[in-house]
Amino acid sequence: MADLSIRDLVKRYDKTQVLHGISLDVEDGEFVVFVGPSGCGKSTTLRMIAGLEEITSGEVSIAGRLVNNLEPKERDIAMVFQNYAIYPHMTVRKNIGFGLRTAKMPRADKERRIDEVAVILGMTDLLDRKPSQLSGGQRQRVAIGRAMVRDPAVFLFDEPLSNLDAQLRTQMRLEIKKLHQRVGNTIIFVTHDQVEAMTMADRIVIMKDGHIQQVGTPSEVYHSP
Ligand code: ADP
Ligand code: ADP
Repeated sequence: MADLSIRDLVKRYDKTQVLHGISLDVEDGEFVVFVGPSGCGKSTTLRMIAGLEEITSGEVSIAGRLVNNLEPKERDIAMVFQNYAIYPHMTVRKNIGFGLRTAKMPRADKERRIDEVAVILGMTDLLDRKPSQLSGGQRQRVAIGRAMVRDPAVFLFDEPLSNLDAQLRTQMRLEIKKLHQRVGNTIIFVTHDQVEAMTMADRIVIMKDGHIQQVGTPSEVYHSP
C-alpha cells in the first residue's frame, strides 16, 4: 500500500483550471521531488495534500485513509515552507516545540522529543537562542525541526532552500538527504532546481502546465535518449 496516494487532483480558481488531474502513488519512505517551471502547479499540489488549499476534485489518501475532509493538523503530515516561518520572539526550543502544541502527550515527553530532534539536527547547543542569533541555515533547520518533532508519516517541502545562498543550499541538500536516510519518513520535495532534484530524489516528477509530464528515477528522467 502506498503511503501517500493522490488521485485525479484538480484545482480550479473561478474559471482558471490550474491542475488537470494529478495522480501519483508514493511509497513508504520514498523521497519524491517535484520539478517544473514556476506556475506549473507544484505548490498548489503540495498545499492540497497538506489541506491548506481546497481540493476542487480528486482524492488524497495517507496510509490508505482518505484525508480530503481532515484539517491539516489531523493529517499525518508536516510542511516546511520556503520562508521558513519561525517565530522571532521564541527560542529555538519553543519554535521546535510549537510543532507539538496540539499533541496530546505529557510535557516531559514533549521536552524529550524536542531534545531528540535537536540532537538529530545538531542544534543541542542552540536551543536557548532566538532566531536573530542564528544563521540562515540554522533557521531553516529550526523550521525542519518543527516539522520533524511530530514524526509525521509524510514531509512536504515547498522550495525550502530557495532563499539560501548557493553554498548553504548545497550543505542543506546534503543535510536533508542524511536526515531522510536516518529518519526514513516519506518526503515530497518541491523545487525548480534540477541539481536539487537529481541529487536528492528517489523519483522525480516533472510537472508542466498543471499536468504530470514524466515520472522516473533521476537517471531515467535526465539521461533518457
Ligand atoms: P508553482 O508552485 O509550480 O510555481 P503554483 O502552484 O504556485 O505553481 O501555481 C499554479 C498556477 O495557479 C499559477 O498559474 C498561479 O498563477 C495559479 N494560482 C495560484 N493561486 C491562485 C489564486 N488564488 N487564484 C488564481 N490563480 C492562482
Ligand atoms: P501545524 O498547524 O501543522 O502544526 P505549523 O506549526 O507549521 O503548522 O504552523 C501553523 C501555521 O502558522 C502555518 O500556516 C505557518 O505558516 C504559520 N506560521 C508559523 N510561524 C509563523 C510566523 N513566524 N509568521 C507567520 N506565520 C507563521
